Amino acid sequence: MQSRWSGADAAECVERYREAGEDLALRVYSSRLIGQEPDLVLHGGGNTSVKSKTRDLFGEEMTVLHVKGSGWNLDTIEPPGLPALRLLELQRLRGLDELDDERMVRELRRSLLDPGAPNPSVETLLHAFLCHKFVDHSHADAILALTNQPDGEKRIHELFGDRVAWAPYVMPGFPLAKQVAEIVEASPAADAIVLEKHGLVTFADEAQQSYERHVEIVETAERMIAAEIEGRRLLDARPVVSMREAGEIAPLVRGALAVPTQDPDRPYQRWILEHRDSTEIAHFAAADAAPMLAESPPITPDHVIRTKGPYLYLKEPAYSDLDTLAAQLAVGVEAYRQAYRAYFERNVEARGIERTMLDPTPRVVVLPGLGLFAAGATRKEARIAADIAEHNIKTKLWASMIGHYAGLPESDLFDMEYWSLEQAKLGRRTPDLLEGQVALITGGAGAIGEGIAKAVLAAGGAVMLTDIDPERLSAVADRLSSDRCETVEADVSDARELQAAFRQTALSFGGVDLVVANAGVAVAGRLEELEVEEFQRAVDVNLGGTFLTVGEALRQLRIQGTGGNIIVLSSKNVFAPGESFGAYSASKAGAHQLGRVAALEGAAFGVRVNMINADAVFGSKENPSGLWKEVGAGRAAARGLPEQELEAFYRNRNLLKVRITAEHVGNAVVFFASQATPTTGAALPIDGGLPGAFPR
Ligand SMILES: [Zn+2]
Repeated sequence: MQSRWSGADAAECVERYREAGEDLALRVYSSRLIGQEPDLVLHGGGNTSVKSKTRDLFGEEMTVLHVKGSGWNLDTIEPPGLPALRLLELQRLRGLDELDDERMVRELRRSLLDPGAPNPSVETLLHAFLCHKFVDHSHADAILALTNQPDGEKRIHELFGDRVAWAPYVMPGFPLAKQVAEIVEASPAADAIVLEKHGLVTFADEAQQSYERHVEIVETAERMIAAEIEGRRLLDARPVVSMREAGEIAPLVRGALAVPTQDPDRPYQRWILEHRDSTEIAHFAAADAAPMLAESPPITPDHVIRTKGPYLYLKEPAYSDLDTLAAQLAVGVEAYRQAYRAYFERNVEARGIERTMLDPTPRVVVLPGLGLFAAGATRKEARIAADIAEHNIKTKLWASMIGHYAGLPESDLFDMEYWSLEQAKLGRRTPDLLEGQVALITGGAGAIGEGIAKAVLAAGGAVMLTDIDPERLSAVADRLSSDRCETVEADVSDARELQAAFRQTALSFGGVDLVVANAGVAVAGRLEELEVEEFQRAVDVNLGGTFLTVGEALRQLRIQGTGGNIIVLSSKNVFAPGESFGAYSASKAGAHQLGRVAALEGAAFGVRVNMINADAVFGSKENPSGLWKEVGAGRAAARGLPEQELEAFYRNRNLLKVRITAEHVGNAVVFFASQATPTTGAALPIDGGLPGAFPR
């Protein structure tokens, strides 16, 4: 690790945040430098502070502590992310013998200059009780590899001498803050302190000095580790090669992790999965020590809220037989949940306290030959858990190669996991309607595909768009601009490409819950004139494509085992065909019939299949309907209208006199996916009311 400090950048930051003052501007600058190193801090981890002077409303000068506020990440922090607290009030607290957490949080909030500021870090008092102007605290991997050892203190002392003090493990909060201040005051040679099995704190009177000390200490530890493990095979393991791809196995993992609920409309709590397979993970998963290390506690206590303590490690997965593998996963998850319940009860009982147990499902699953899958209620949470797991695995691997990994005892972990202040970090919120659901939408580049994607994303779902047109596909993805949306090129009339698209969806999100067979082509022409090739083209895409999409969807949803929804975009033409539109109407009628058969076949494993019969969706200016581009001129001519009047003609034709939009179709898809009604095999017209096309 190298110092990223640049005098020019620091000066530029001071200039940019002139109003905040030089101290705070430099604090912002070097906090960001720390935040840019994932080997130092991850996702809201770590915290920094500066002691400075400011004036109150009456012009009176006072000393304040700016400390990281909750909800901010160091890499993107701004001055408001480091709220100011009255330092003297905080320092007075040190005289107390005890200060419980709730009281501490109230005192911190009371000391804020701006009552609207975010909650100051739970480690605020640690910063306040140290006398140095700048304080930097991280959970550096290399330091954690050294302190998570039975002889961690000795190792730190041998490597750094008196320069780095040592604090035995104490839970963050008031007692840790007091302990650290006492140790630092009693160690005049120290310009840093390692917190056992927790992290590193450096301090200095200059921002650059405190930051560069931090980097230098971590760099020394990294070099020492690198020298010891150089040329050795990681954990003496030879990575296993799996005969399966991660995208093929992910739905089984996702199915096993899903939590059955008592709610018939929302029968499962589903997770989004994030897959990782770095070299380190491959070696880790194949090592003899893997089961023990996977179950060992995290490298720093605050990771427990994202990944729980142990990971689920599956020994010898039966990749040759997916049914056996699914059974192995189910047994593994159930055993994990039981062990978690026992851990919870044991610790609650030992303390004589009452707590509500958190969901006992594992958040990280390690599979030899495939890597790891991290689970989160949202994609963001899954990614955070995966990043944390990756750094934990790398650090445990280092620790085991230079000694023996020894994490926190279970009781300390429990205190952290059930600490109200940590739980507050996760925030309580009502889940979005389709949170945790993954949709695959064919014909995703088209007007209706985009409208459906928009609606599913707005309802909190994740989306994979497939299409044959990569340029239009990426234009749609750009417009949707969501980190829950991805695209993959695939032709629905090609079974192999379609299977690859499903596999890519599972690799990106863990599986699929909602499949929308939307791809279609418009072929116009009177039957007596229509070329057989043209007729065949409509059949291949509209009927054959639906057959392949629905068939693969049923296979995937059966493997995953948590039900799901399939929507077939049929057409108003199914009920009311149009002249010169035989190939289209007939192929769509076939697709519609396939959907009804799929409803019969999928019900046994909880899959609902419904049809949407839309009419005259012209699309938007950015994404005009491909269908109308192809047949609009002909339809207008057939009706003796100029083409630009066609849309108005269709609007006036329906009972409600409304323009039908792609978003209307999207709303219908969300309705079916929400399972608000027990409906399958049904057709929902979205046409403003056309008596001739009423379903019957
Ligand atoms: Zn910390």
